[in-house]
Amino acid sequence: MRVSWQSLYDEIYACEKCELCKQIHNKVPGQGDIHAKLMFIGEGPGADEDMQGLAFVGAAGQLLTKMIAAMGYDREQVYICNIVKCRPPHNRTPEPLEAQMCLPYLRQQVALVRPRVIVLLGATAARTLLREDFRITREHGIWVEKKGVWFMPTYHPAALLRDESKKREAWRDLQKVMEKMKELGEKASDGGHEGV
Ligand code: SF4
Repeated sequence: MRVSWQSLYDEIYACEKCELCKQIHNKVPGQGDIHAKLMFIGEGPGADEDMQGLAFVGAAGQLLTKMIAAMGYDREQVYICNIVKCRPPHNRTPEPLEAQMCLPYLRQQVALVRPRVIVLLGATAARTLLREDFRITREHGIWVEKKGVWFMPTYHPAALLRDESKKREAWRDLQKVMEKMKELGEKASDGGHEGV
């Protein structure tokens, strides 16, 4: 049975299923167009996200906003969230068990939004949703289709901030996303304009 957004968010805000909720300021469920055809899924909230209760609002979030704009979309036209809804201490990678505990919320978000294309930002998102031994450096940019939804794994914006040389590859991945959206008849307003 499909839940409502309100009951899903209530459940997330009340959730104490794993240890990650112990040291947070805010839950970060995700935000954006709840009918978006394009969805972005990252790893987990960082310090800025934890303080504001919003996904991707720190430095990596600003880069993601630029990436989305370069694809011809506004942030408000896509849906953005993370694998885990609570900030891991010191921004560590969420444990696979924590990711699995939080996964039902993400599945419900995907079921409610019903995107045509999902961009997986970084290894944690790809390992949780595609395959646990997924290697982002080797396997980014390769489409995976599941039940009519197209998944594009690429680098997390935080990784692009650490290593600028990856930006070119990431932009190629996002160009594939733009092509796929066009193919699916879901083209953005002007089809994108410049690289990241
Ligand atoms: S990370 Fe997810 S599963 Fe863990 S407490 Fe937070 S909302 Fe619940």
